[in-house]
Amino acid sequence: MLSSRIATGVRMLTTSTMAGHKLIAVCQMTSSHNIEENYATMKDMIKRAAYRNCKMVFFPECSDFVGRTRQESVDQAIFMDGDFVKRLQRDAAEHGIWISVGSIHEQVDEECLPHTAPVKVCMPKNSNLVIDAKGDLVGKYRKLHLFDLDIPGKVRLMESEFSSAGHHLVKPIETPVGRLGMCICYDVRFPELSLWYRKQGAQILSYPAAFTVSTGLAHWETLLRTRAIETQCYVVAAAQTGMHNEKRSSYGHSMIVDPWGAVVAQCSDEVDMCFAEIKLDYLEKIRLTQPVFAHRRNDLYSLNSNYVANPGESDIMFGEHVISKDTIFYRSELSYAFVNHKPVVEGHVLVAPINKVERLTDLTDEETADLFIVAKRVQKMLEKAHKTNSSTVAVQDGPCAGQTVKHVHVHIVPRTEGDFKGDDIYEELSKHDKKEREPRPHQHMKEEAELYAKYMLY
Ligand code: AMP
Repeated sequence: MLSSRIATGVRMLTTSTMAGHKLIAVCQMTSSHNIEENYATMKDMIKRAAYRNCKMVFFPECSDFVGRTRQESVDQAIFMDGDFVKRLQRDAAEHGIWISVGSIHEQVDEECLPHTAPVKVCMPKNSNLVIDAKGDLVGKYRKLHLFDLDIPGKVRLMESEFSSAGHHLVKPIETPVGRLGMCICYDVRFPELSLWYRKQGAQILSYPAAFTVSTGLAHWETLLRTRAIETQCYVVAAAQTGMHNEKRSSYGHSMIVDPWGAVVAQCSDEVDMCFAEIKLDYLEKIRLTQPVFAHRRNDLYSLNSNYVANPGESDIMFGEHVISKDTIFYRSELSYAFVNHKPVVEGHVLVAPINKVERLTDLTDEETADLFIVAKRVQKMLEKAHKTNSSTVAVQDGPCAGQTVKHVHVHIVPRTEGDFKGDDIYEELSKHDKKEREPRPHQHMKEEAELYAKYMLY
């Protein structure tokens, strides 16, 4: 099934590499609806990559299967702990090679939670997975931008009809070939994502793809090279190619682009593999001689993101208080949201910067933007959860304004008809935590935080 030719031109590589340079393999496939057949192709390619002493092998988007119909794409979706992924984990361990699975149709239970009703199909996620050389799953990124394209008479592919978008940015992961930022296909059109990865320390960006032929012809190489040049990262793009079924075909032309923007390995449009060395010393040289990131005008525009960390990652200080991770329900890069131990009404929560900063005016512009973006998201969630259309959003900034905890915080209070008279809410806010009353039980706060954490996803 595999073509014996290795890549179209660019560079023939041998198994030996210069010290510190790591060989990677990129696999180009024509996945069908048949998961077994696709797996057999992958297994063969993994073996070939290992034989050449590659440290990591990259597969395209939908390496598990390409559905013939919308329904098939939903019905055949696989679980992370299912056979397909398990077998790849075994292969990685057997050959001692890292595997970028490209992407699978990930079956997810949480999409079926009752509050997402009315009766919606449990749409799979398009998930990029990384398995290490011991066979452990060490990375997962769920595609953020779904490809909905309808050019009459040319191409119609509506990914949102059989897939649901991810909700989170995922920090780059350490691999033996460098720090890897995981993206998928259509994500390549969103430079904010790749620049965010670069800011987080990425050295390699992976774009497993199944590009349509018409968009591939027009944009594929230009987009990949542009992402490489502006982030000064290696870009690794394993692609689907050829006819998957009567209705769907892909452009192919898998490629590896270096941080200078040069295409250092490329397949044509056949099922094939291509290889290149990742040279991090070369990458550093480029970043040093042209330090574009140091030249950014962060005073005029920013790379501020709404990165969401795991809210239960760790406790965080709030002034002199320790806020238990159990009571934190949302966490961005710079801010966090937690439930109040003495709420003025049900749903009264707080949003604060992660850095302990006393006054609003002492926050950086990035922290300020992030704080209020998070506050807005939390407000929206609370109004939905408490079925209302109003909120009080307040900052008591400084001692004369009623601030008791010396750490900036935004009070968000969902309001309902008749809860307070006139502006009495402000009177209540200024004294609610000074009254002699016990904080709520931890368990109560924990349950509330768990509920809000789920609501924040929708
Ligand atoms: P302020 O009076 O504006 O400084 O508001 C301080 C807010 O923090 C009040 O709403 C308190 O109820 C709340 N608070 C203080 N300590 C904690 C804590 N350990 N956990 C949760 N909320 C807290």
